[in-house]
Amino acid sequence: MSVQENLEALTKSIPAHCTLVAVSKTHPPEKINEAYQWGQRVFGENRAQELVQKYEVMPRDIEWHMIGHMQSNKVKTIAPFVSLIHSVDSTRLLQEINRQAARVDRVLPCLLQVHIADESSKFGFTPDEVTQLIEGDAWKDLPHVAVKGLMGMATLTEDQDQIRNEFRGLKRLFEKFKATQLPPSVSMEILSMGMSGDFRIAIEEGSTMVRVGSAIFGPR
Ligand SMILES: *Cc1c(COP(=O)(O)O)cnc(C)c1O
Repeated sequence: MSVQENLEALTKSIPAHCTLVAVSKTHPPEKINEAYQWGQRVFGENRAQELVQKYEVMPRDIEWHMIGHMQSNKVKTIAPFVSLIHSVDSTRLLQEINRQAARVDRVLPCLLQVHIADESSKFGFTPDEVTQLIEGDAWKDLPHVAVKGLMGMATLTEDQDQIRNEFRGLKRLFEKFKATQLPPSVSMEILSMGMSGDFRIAIEEGSTMVRVGSAIFGPR
């Protein structure tokens, strides 16, 4: 199936309230352009250098999302144009995002990545850590950061119940925060969960943003 046929089919199973981020990592601009021609405008990359290279050659009305773990020293390169950083996994990274956003006079929309998988390799705050961060007083020193919600990745497993439970736990955390008085720069609008293999479950469990790569562009 072509990129356009894949997008056509995908959008039928994604409700209108859920944003599709087309994950174009490793794929060349020509391939991204097929999705762009179809009408897709939101793209995600997991490496800063690749994100910058693609931003430079692709049309300017694309919304570029950073979805992968970042080294602090890479923030500078994407701060001028990135639309959303899904993968904020440390206070140190938040501080650097704030610093680099200030330099380019922006307030950068971010999601806090929460570790929900039963795997040690995945990045993110634990639910306790993210609660402490949100309830803490770090925000007064981060005027150039706007937290818009949470992101999580489920375990890579065949066990659908486990995946569902992990997504459900993240949704519960999201709703818990939403029901509390949040700092002015924190809001709970976006719940980024679901990839090619598990986005249907994620949507059933309340995802508002799915990050889909191989189901659009084919295997990497
Ligand atoms: C690669 C990646 C995706 C997309 O993965 P697919 O299985 O190809 O859909 C989603 N989220 C993150 C953080 C990724 O790195």
